[in-house]
Amino acid sequence: MYKLTSGFETHVELKTNTKIFCCCSNEFGSEPNTRCCPVCIGLPGAMPRLNKKVVEFAVRAGLALNCKINSLSYMDRKNYSYPDLPKAYQISQYDVPLCYEGFVELDSGKRIGITRIHIEEDAGKLIHNDAEILIDYNRAGVPLIEIVSEPDIQSTEEAKEFVEKLRLIMRYTEVSDCKMQEGSMRCDVNISVSDTDKLGTRTEIKNMNSIANIQKAMEYEFERQIEVLENGGSITQETLGFDEKSGTTYSMRTKEDADDYRFFREPDLLAIHISEEDIERIRQTLPELPDKKIKRYVAELGINKKDAELLIKYPRVAEFFEKASKGVNSPKKVANFILGVIFGFLKSETLKEEFKLKITPESLKGIVLLVESGKLNMSKAKTTLEQMLLSGKRAEELLSNEDLGGFDEDMLLCLCGKAIDTNPKIVADYKAGKDKAIMALVGYVMRESKGRADAEKVKEKLKEII
Ligand SMILES: [Zn+2]
Repeated sequence: MYKLTSGFETHVELKTNTKIFCCCSNEFGSEPNTRCCPVCIGLPGAMPRLNKKVVEFAVRAGLALNCKINSLSYMDRKNYSYPDLPKAYQISQYDVPLCYEGFVELDSGKRIGITRIHIEEDAGKLIHNDAEILIDYNRAGVPLIEIVSEPDIQSTEEAKEFVEKLRLIMRYTEVSDCKMQEGSMRCDVNISVSDTDKLGTRTEIKNMNSIANIQKAMEYEFERQIEVLENGGSITQETLGFDEKSGTTYSMRTKEDADDYRFFREPDLLAIHISEEDIERIRQTLPELPDKKIKRYVAELGINKKDAELLIKYPRVAEFFEKASKGVNSPKKVANFILGVIFGFLKSETLKEEFKLKITPESLKGIVLLVESGKLNMSKAKTTLEQMLLSGKRAEELLSNEDLGGFDEDMLLCLCGKAIDTNPKIVADYKAGKDKAIMALVGYVMRESKGRADAEKVKEKLKEII
């Protein structure tokens, strides 16, 4: 029985304003080679200066992933030659990274260890056209953290959960938007198989940019390695690419060892010192993280776990929900409006992610308060909310006096009385034991109230009177 063993190296682009060693803008997507300077394109003599924010963001990420922080760490040169790397070395961290020994906890309680997190610069981007290769150096010098996990992942399901959790934690801490499609989060997946307790030789699948592809590539590679071993072959330690179209991996190069990079201390930069006070200050600014939010929603707000998971999946939705449910009796109603009406309105993942609405949390809260006070029934509340989402108008502008307020206990009593007086035959039927007859009276009251009354309440009231 072959077992799968996998570890992840995840590159996350940090959302700082400027690049890691210069003052160039770190904004995504602009004309090629317009966000460059002598430092990030590696002109001789240009001196790097470490962006303090990068260190702060990396520590923030480390603390959120339960890491320890090195009070003293260093920048190192990783030497290799490639057209996207104009200096012929990448400034990274080698033997002493900023963060170490953290973990991500899966729902099962199993912990996936985080070996280390280090900071480094991104390389430029090669654009392959038909007959030529173009280079865009806008990405050169973009700050990255590399999050290295222990080989604790043993299935594609665990891989999916790990990446989803990691991504969400990074987004809640606001160190990165982690858009896998745009490459601001990319995973290298190490994979080996073995039918003994000893780990097998691993291969590394580079630059995976979606969770679905990660799972497909892992499944393919798992089967491929088993087949090689079953046929008496051995696994070569190598770097692989994943071909999305065929769903297969292909060899890119045999894997380099650390020795091949001739790491040495970066002589143009000082060591990085971080004090206990700095670490504590950063820890204080950490937001409530997703898993804790879920627990709180369930325990304190009466939301079921599945709904809580949907609410926290997008940080903006969670924020909106929390604002809208302050001061209402039933946060569950708020959740239902968001997951039902609003999510029905925002069809795509991107729209849910952005969560740009014409209404404020306060106006949703307003609707819920009207429902809770019995002034507005549920179905009218839903259609009103739909109109609000389209028009941006407030509930008060859309609801007439007739819809609102006018319908209270007295009115209910009055209409029920009227229903009984005008329908003596039905009342007689009901008294004679035809329970269903009462629905005709309920229907009468609902018509008279133009649908504003609450049918359940009407039924109760009618029974009471009769
Ligand atoms: Zn620059």
